Formats: sequence, C-alpha cells, structure tokens
Amino acid sequence: MQAETINAKELVGVYQAGSHHMVGDGFPVRNMIPGAGVEEQLSPFLMLDYMGPEEFPPTTSRLGVGEHPHRGFETVTIMYHGKVAHRDSTGSGGVIGPGDVQWMTAASGVVHEELHEKEFAEKGGLLEGVQLWVNLPKAFKMAAPRYQTLLSSEIPAVNIGEGAGRLRVIAGEFRGVTGPAKTFSPVHLYDLHLAAGHRIELDLPEGFNSSLFVLHGQVLVNGSQTVGEVEIGLFGQRGERVVLEAKQDATMLVLSGEPIAEPVARYGPFVMNTRDEIIQAVQDYQAGKMGHLS
Ligand code: MN
Repeated sequence: MQAETINAKELVGVYQAGSHHMVGDGFPVRNMIPGAGVEEQLSPFLMLDYMGPEEFPPTTSRLGVGEHPHRGFETVTIMYHGKVAHRDSTGSGGVIGPGDVQWMTAASGVVHEELHEKEFAEKGGLLEGVQLWVNLPKAFKMAAPRYQTLLSSEIPAVNIGEGAGRLRVIAGEFRGVTGPAKTFSPVHLYDLHLAAGHRIELDLPEGFNSSLFVLHGQVLVNGSQTVGEVEIGLFGQRGERVVLEAKQDATMLVLSGEPIAEPVARYGPFVMNTRDEIIQAVQDYQAGKMGHLS
C-alpha cells in the first residue's frame, strides 16, 4: 500500500450553503460558514460567504455595502471576477480585482465601505468572490487595525505538475513556498485550481481545523468521498495527508488554521470574547470611536 493512507486526515462532513441573501445591495452571497452549524470545528474561521457568481448590468449607482463597523477579527476578501473598492476610517483602501486578496485586520475597530469599483460597475460584468472572517486571539482583538492588499502578482503560484493546475499560497506555506499574508495565528490559505483527472496531496497540520470549499467542479477526497460545487468539506483534526482529485476542472479554497481556544461572543460585525466586550464595541461604535469615512 501507499504510505499516503497511513496518516490520512479524514473528511468528516460535507455541507451545503446555509442561506442565500444579499449583503448590502451589491453582494448576493451564499453563506457556507457558519451556516454549516459546525462553528467550533472551524475556528479560527468565523464566516465564509461566497459572493456570486452573478452578472451585473452596467450602472452608475454605487452598489455594495455602505459605512459599517467591525471589531475583533479580520475580513479577507478574495476576488475571482469583477472589482471591489474598499475604503476605511484609518484612511486605508484600494481596489482588488481577479486574483487579488484584501486582508483587513479590524482589530480594535474600523468603519469601512465595500463597493463595486466604479469603472467595473459602469461597464457591468461578472462578480465572483469570497469573504472570509478570521478570528483574532484575545491578545490582538484591541490591537491597531491593519490593511494588507495582496495583489495577484505577489501571491506565489506553485506548479503542481504538467497540466495539473496550480496552487496559490495566500497565507501560510506549501512545499516550502510562503504566502504574503501576515496573520496573528497560524493559518494556511490556498487558492487551488486542479484540472480534471489530476490529483494533489496536501499535508495539513494535525490539530488544525481544516476544510475545503469547492467553488466549481467536483473533487474526490481521499479516493472515497466527493465534495461538490458550492459545498464545504470539513476534515477531522487527526492526521495530515489529504488527497484531492478533480473529477471535473475544479476551483477551491483550502482553509487550515490553529484553533483559537477562547470564548467567542459575536454580534453582527463584532466578534469578541465576552458579552461585556460586545456591549462596549456597540457603545464605542455609536460614540464614533471607530472613526468615520471622510
Ligand atoms: Mn465589512
């Protein structure tokens, strides 16, 4: 037998979207986390919304989500199609397009807006992306906000074999290649394209919470189970080796992170450790302490 079966990491569940709703007036999303109802097995990942894919007609209106706050975690926006413009109360902002990632650390608090980029909106076109929320350890929840624009050109792509596809390392490490995102707890985040009939072996750390979100295609996991289109597959913490094989051309995100073993208190855009900290966050926001957009 192959050695790969010895330390296999088991797929323990496959989940469909929990809800389909609009975020603001510009982002039709399917919620994969926490819709799955297995939140504790996903820490430090708090939320995953799949935006689109949806074709938008040309418009001069500014579609998206207007001014709103966040505190206590990070929002990570990964674009596949279309362009989104961000602007926040620290003066940071920028435009991300296909292949780009914005890793925004709200920490002690920001107010921001997320809109379809102006020229993209005026031309119209396909919008597709993912927004992931990553929790912060207690020690960093009140740290200064930080904003990382990770352009496609800065995200290393690992060739995984002739015609097999490629794996882009957004955060963490794969086969000695390190991703550009700075994180506050250990996280591996890969954007993976696997061509039909090809396979890849991944080693995801024992003890980390790991999952596989398939945007497109069908993926055979460990030779026996399938994660289909717009499904999220959850792995157990034991073992390391995962074998993925694309039954059709597949686009997926691989998420793996060290669990943050601290209490979670969440209310809308705030994720803290206690209810008192949530009340404080609401008060601080209302008092303007998270700033405003200029
Ligand atoms: Mn936001």
